[in-house]
Amino acid sequence: MAVPTRKTSKTRKRNRRGHIKLTVPGLAPCPNCGELRKSHMVCPNCGYYNGKEVVAKNN
Ligand SMILES: [Zn+2]
Repeated sequence: MAVPTRKTSKTRKRNRRGHIKLTVPGLAPCPNCGELRKSHMVCPNCGYYNGKEVVAKNN
């Protein structure tokens, strides 16, 4: 149910939001180059996924 803003104190608001936090994404090292990348994602460093080059990288 909606509560007027002035009825919710700073403490009450901050206590409630204490449980809201950023989550760290699941990072795993790339088997090709060893750089940390998100699992189930193409490696942004070397462009490899599942042992094959999926995205061409000019370097
Ligand atoms: Zn890589």
